[in-house]
Amino acid sequence: MNDIKENPYYQLFSKQKDNQFKVGKSTYNQRVKKLNALQRAIEFTYRKQIIEALHKDLNKPKVEAELTEIYQIIGEIKYAKKHLRQWMRKQSVETPLSMLGSGSYYVYEPKGVCLIISPWNFPFNLTFGPLVSAIAAGNTAIIKPSEMTPNSSGLMAKIVADIFPEDEVALLEGKVEVSTQLLKLPFNHIFFTGSPNVGKIVMTAAAKHLASVTLELGGKSPTVLDKTANLDTAAKKIIWGKYMNAGQICVSPDYVLIDESLKEKFLKYCKKWLIHYYTEQPQNSESYARIVTDKHFERLNSHIENAKTLGATVEVGGKTEADTKYIDPTIISNIKEEATLLHEEIFGPILPIVTYNTLDEAISYINSKERPLALYVYSKSKTNIKKVIQNTRAGGTCINNNIIHYANHNLPFGGTNNSGIGKSHGFYGFEAFSNKRAVVKQHTFGITELLFPPYTNLKEKLAR
Ligand code: NAD
Repeated sequence: MNDIKENPYYQLFSKQKDNQFKVGKSTYNQRVKKLNALQRAIEFTYRKQIIEALHKDLNKPKVEAELTEIYQIIGEIKYAKKHLRQWMRKQSVETPLSMLGSGSYYVYEPKGVCLIISPWNFPFNLTFGPLVSAIAAGNTAIIKPSEMTPNSSGLMAKIVADIFPEDEVALLEGKVEVSTQLLKLPFNHIFFTGSPNVGKIVMTAAAKHLASVTLELGGKSPTVLDKTANLDTAAKKIIWGKYMNAGQICVSPDYVLIDESLKEKFLKYCKKWLIHYYTEQPQNSESYARIVTDKHFERLNSHIENAKTLGATVEVGGKTEADTKYIDPTIISNIKEEATLLHEEIFGPILPIVTYNTLDEAISYINSKERPLALYVYSKSKTNIKKVIQNTRAGGTCINNNIIHYANHNLPFGGTNNSGIGKSHGFYGFEAFSNKRAVVKQHTFGITELLFPPYTNLKEKLAR
C-alpha cells in the first residue's frame, strides 16, 4: 500500500478514483456537453494548431491531417452523441420460467479510472478517439501519449487542460518511464495502442491488478492479389494505402502476395500510380510525409540494406536521406525469406512483393506468420475471396480496397491475438470502457423460494 503512495502519479490517480462515481453518474446531457467541448476544441479552436503540430512532427500533409486525424475524431464524437442515449439505456432480457416473479436487464456501467496510452503515427486520432469512448461511457481517464511526436503531445496536453479538470481527464507527457510508473497503479481499464511487444508489457502490468485491457496492436498486414484481380485499380489503392503517412499506419498493407505471372504487370501499374500521386521526385512532393525519428529512419534503412545484401531487387525508389528522415516510396522484390523485411512489421514506405504459384501457397504463407491486424484481398472471384477469408484469421478485412474499414464507425476495429485484444470505435469503444452489469429484480414471490431449505423429498423431485 505504501509503495503505491510513493508513485509520482498516485495523487492524480487518487483524485480520479475519488471522483469516479460522480463522473460515472453523469447523465446523457452531461456527457454530451463534454464531447461538445472536445469537438469545439478540435474542430474550431485548435484546428490550425493541430495541423501545424502534425506538420512539425511528421511533415504530415494538410489533407492527411484533416482526413485521418480531425475528421476521424469529429466523426467518432458525432457518432457517439447520436447513439449514446440508446447505449446508456438499460437493456431488458428474457427471464426464464424457473425465475418467475423477477425481471432481468443489463446496463453498461463505467469501468472507472482508465489509462489510455497512445502511439505517435496518428497522435491526435489515436489519443482522442479512445478518450471519446471513455467519456461517453462515463469514466475518468489519464492519458499518456507518445514522446516521439512532442509538438502534438504538447498541444494535446493544452487542449485537455483547457477542457477538463484533472480529476476527470488528465494528460501526462513524457517518455517510457511515465508509462512504467502509471502501469503500476491499479487502473480499472487500460486502453493501449502500440506495438505487440509493448502490448505484452502492458498486459503483464495489468495482470497484477486484474485490470481489463484493450490492446490495439500492429503486425504484418498481407495484401493478396489473385489472377482475377484488376491490377490497375488494385495498384491505385495499394499505393495510396501503403504510402499515406509514409507507410506509418497500423493497417497499411505490409506486403503484397501476388501470383508470379502477374508480378511485372502489377509493378508497371504501381510505378504509374506512384508518379501520379507523388511525381517523379517524391522528395519534393508536398503530399509525402517523413519518418518520425532518426531511430525509425535507421530501422527502415537497415531493412532495405539487409534485403539488398541478400540479393533482393529494388524495383522502385530505395533512396534515403538521414538529415531529413526521408525515404523514397520503395518497392522491393525477389526477397530472401530470411530478410528482416519479411519478418518485422515494416511501418514505413517499403513494399515487399512476394510471389506465389497457387492460392493455397499464399494462404499457407499468411498463416505461417502472426495473425495480422488487417488482411486485404483483391479479386473478382467470390470463391477465391471466400477461400482466403475462411482459411485465415485477421482483425479486419477489405475486399478490393485497403485501410477504409478503419473509417466505418459501425464496424468493430481491432486485432486478434498478436495484433490485439478487444475492439474499439463507435459502440465497440463504448463497450470496451464499460462493464456490462447484470441485474435481476425480484418483483413478487419467487418460485425458487419453494426450494429453500429444509430440503425434503418433494423439493428434491421439484429440483430435477
Ligand atoms: P510503441 O509500442 O513503441 O509505443 C506506444 C506507446 O507506448 C507510447 O506512448 C510509448 O511511450 C509507450 N511505451 C513504449 N515502450 C514502453 C514500455 N516499455 N512500457 C510502457 N510503455 C511504453 O508503439 P509506437 O512506435 O508508438 O507505434 C507503432 C506501433 O503501434 C506499430 O506496431 C503499429 O502497428 C501500432 N499501432 C496500432 C494501431 C491500432 O489501432 N491497432 C494504431 C497505430 C499504431
